[in-house]
Amino acid sequence: MGKIAGYTCVACKTFIEDDGQLHYQCSKCSSNLQVEYDYDRLGNELTKESFLGGDGPGVFRYNELLPISKETATPNLSIGDTPLYKSQILGQKLGHEKLYIKDESRNPSSSFKDRASAVGLVKGIEVSAKVMTGASTGNAGSSMACLAASMGIRPVIFVPEAAPKAKIAQLMLFGARVLSVRGTYDDAFDLCLRATQKYGWYNRNTGFNPYTREGKKTCSFEIVEQFNWQVPDVVVVPVGDGNIISGIWKGFTDLYKIGLIDRKPKLLAVQSNKSNSIAQAVNSGLEKPEEVNATTIADSISVSLPRDGQAAVKAINESEGFAVEVSDESILNMISTVACNSGVFAEPAGATGFAGVEQAVKDGILDPKWSVLVVMTGSGLKDIDSALKVAGEPESIDKDSLDFL
Ligand SMILES: *Cc1c(COP(=O)(O)O)cnc(C)c1O
Repeated sequence: MGKIAGYTCVACKTFIEDDGQLHYQCSKCSSNLQVEYDYDRLGNELTKESFLGGDGPGVFRYNELLPISKETATPNLSIGDTPLYKSQILGQKLGHEKLYIKDESRNPSSSFKDRASAVGLVKGIEVSAKVMTGASTGNAGSSMACLAASMGIRPVIFVPEAAPKAKIAQLMLFGARVLSVRGTYDDAFDLCLRATQKYGWYNRNTGFNPYTREGKKTCSFEIVEQFNWQVPDVVVVPVGDGNIISGIWKGFTDLYKIGLIDRKPKLLAVQSNKSNSIAQAVNSGLEKPEEVNATTIADSISVSLPRDGQAAVKAINESEGFAVEVSDESILNMISTVACNSGVFAEPAGATGFAGVEQAVKDGILDPKWSVLVVMTGSGLKDIDSALKVAGEPESIDKDSLDFL
């Protein structure tokens, strides 16, 4: 192997040297692990050109900074390479003109989760997993099922029974075995971990599997590329488990350590006030988020106990960033505001970042000179029931009447 240097525990900082084996959590304190590379070597070897010039489509071209071998088979789909839009009209509406959108709904299963599933799945193949499993509010599972389907693999996915219908439909149609847990996402997560232990399955669970963060960091590589080796001043991320935001931070941090960028952005974490564990921790100075009772309508970020919470809090603080809370009402209304002022259709969690920008402008957090990039994490077509709540009704007219002016 020798591809990575090892793993550092996010909590107790124990370092585990790479032994070619799969590692999930810290052997000492059972906290999440962070994958480490030989940054000195990479700093000497990698140039901007060689870093971007790797083989393979989408996220796999960043192989030098991924924990997987170049030789392993990859999903036969285009993952990553999502578009970046400058969106002045929406920016004016939200009160911050220098606004950019990174549209992650353009991934194969229509959410950001495909980045994590891509690396997670390939890792599973590398360790010859017999059964791959994962727990999900909907998107992580449908993403895993989608990418796996392109390789003829059928994962076992645990979801809370309240997951939106379109996400269940995706899971079923991509051929996964779907276990609908009579309980919350947190219950599905715990049951999936127990199954993993009992049956020796390979587990993709967010945060618990350190390779998920490694997949998610590829978004930052693309942002740097699209900003021509600069970074935006602020990157805005909707937060549930905290794995996307810690992954995005990892991406910028890796490039910084290697010397390919000379500055990192601030992070703005956005949560619903009905699922606010990480925001509460950041704003009250706690290192480790505490459990809340999550009830937000934004199902993808409805998390009582964030599974990558400590890494998320650390990322936000290291970036000298911020965390804001927004109401479910503002999230729903934002689906409509974003759609009709940018042409981008967001599921509730995907609209949450924009609601956070509006809130941050009100709170005076954002300097008007800053460039602000919102990561739009999931497609509105995944949760039509929520969209219909704010879409309004079409006008009904007689079939032979032109009397509508
Ligand atoms: C998973 C997800 C999030 C939040 O990511 P975390 O890693 O759980 O913080 C946000 N938006 C969408 C659409 C998601 O699927």
